[in-house]
Amino acid sequence: MSTDTAYNELLTHLKRVHYLGSVASLVGWDEQVNLPPDSADQRAEQNAVLAELSHEAATNSRIGTLLTELEQAAINLSTDQQVVVREARKEYDRATKLPADYVREKAIQGSVGYHAWAKARAASDFASYIPVLEKNIKLAKQEAGYLGWGDRAYDYMIDKHDPGMTAAVITKLFSELKTELVPLVRQITSSKVKPRSDKLTGFPVDGQFKFLREVTEKLGFNYRRGRIDVSLHPFCSGNGADIRMTTRFREDEPLGALFGSIHETGHGLYEQGLPLAHHATALGQAAGMGVHESQSRMWENQVGRSRAFWAFFEPRFREEFPAQTSDVTSDELYLAVNKVSPTLIRVEADEITYNLHIILRFEIEQKLFAGTLAVKDLPQAWNQSAEELLGLTPPDDRMGVLQDVHWSDGAFGYFPSYCLGNMIAAQLWYHALELRPDLTADFARGDFSWLLKWLQTNVHAQGKRHDALALTKRITGQELSPQPLLRYLRERYLPLYCA
Ligand code: ZN
Repeated sequence: MSTDTAYNELLTHLKRVHYLGSVASLVGWDEQVNLPPDSADQRAEQNAVLAELSHEAATNSRIGTLLTELEQAAINLSTDQQVVVREARKEYDRATKLPADYVREKAIQGSVGYHAWAKARAASDFASYIPVLEKNIKLAKQEAGYLGWGDRAYDYMIDKHDPGMTAAVITKLFSELKTELVPLVRQITSSKVKPRSDKLTGFPVDGQFKFLREVTEKLGFNYRRGRIDVSLHPFCSGNGADIRMTTRFREDEPLGALFGSIHETGHGLYEQGLPLAHHATALGQAAGMGVHESQSRMWENQVGRSRAFWAFFEPRFREEFPAQTSDVTSDELYLAVNKVSPTLIRVEADEITYNLHIILRFEIEQKLFAGTLAVKDLPQAWNQSAEELLGLTPPDDRMGVLQDVHWSDGAFGYFPSYCLGNMIAAQLWYHALELRPDLTADFARGDFSWLLKWLQTNVHAQGKRHDALALTKRITGQELSPQPLLRYLRERYLPLYCA
């Protein structure tokens, strides 16, 4: 068979895998947005059948044969085709190298783990959760072993979310960040300046929805190829020509829905910017979670929390909510947008202290996988770290080690992506500013097109060609560093809190 024929046949298989996955994702979106209360059992059956079909398609032995053939003829493949084959191999190995017994055990443990976690959290009862976590760590190590990462299980978990990233690289980046970030947070929180977000109350959901639609459209989200709805936990799913974002509303916290939506819009713009013709292969898929998060964070933070952004949108905000904003000055509004206040709960954290929550989880995960921290000693390690990093001690495990769902399902190595995303965002941001010093003047006129186009060309259009570290270096000419993030946080927050 010629290389071209083999490659085209591989594409047919990848397309099938991809579209089955995208149907499953659409059904997942529907479950979170539209599912009637008593329809969950039926949906579980539907999901099971879809998962079976997806697994069959992804493990089709023909894919293995084609990949071997193409790998042997790699010299005849273009660079792009090599990327497709390389990533398809990774996916195929992940789908085929795990024994059926293991996959079954892991699936059962996922649901057992979730319920055990929910119960343990409600009662703040860590002891009951210990066996679940011990088993999840064991399963993760086992999985790493099957995939040939036996001696580097935690790196394997990181690589699953952020291809190319390792614990050693993250350790270096995070320790440099931590050293400078902890004192910066102390400096800001000891300031006499306190944001008054309590003045922003009574914002009708209709008006909030209208306003955030206007904002996200202005940023460049294409609503002819996507939509935004309401769900309990905001997310962005879908790909290609159909992106589904969600948000949630609170009348006394209008900035929550707005910034949540801008964040998801950043994810959505990335997905919409990936090359449509290739979205069934690695050339049309995101580089990893860290890069994905860099896109959501840049639009949310560097753009959405800037003076220039509010110079344009504040008049519209006041026009939409005249009564609710009549008593709020521009400075008060801007301070509420840039509120810093350490909290014990990660999902409620501001953009500065959020990084400390991530560093805490990374350091703990690393010790758990290295075996230098026993699961039973987790609460103590957690609380000590919370005190050291955030200056706060959880009153109970519900507010501490039991707060996140991730570990209940064995999702280790996932947290670092959030903080890596912040670093990548800041580094790309300063590079964009160098290329276009007038960028914020554009924003003040309501023009976000230069930034979007630049990201589309340099990040989105690249698909999975480069991992996070290579992509950052390629665009900015510098290795990934926490310094641009620290610079950004100082420039944004010190004038507000410590002028
Ligand atoms: Zn995100």
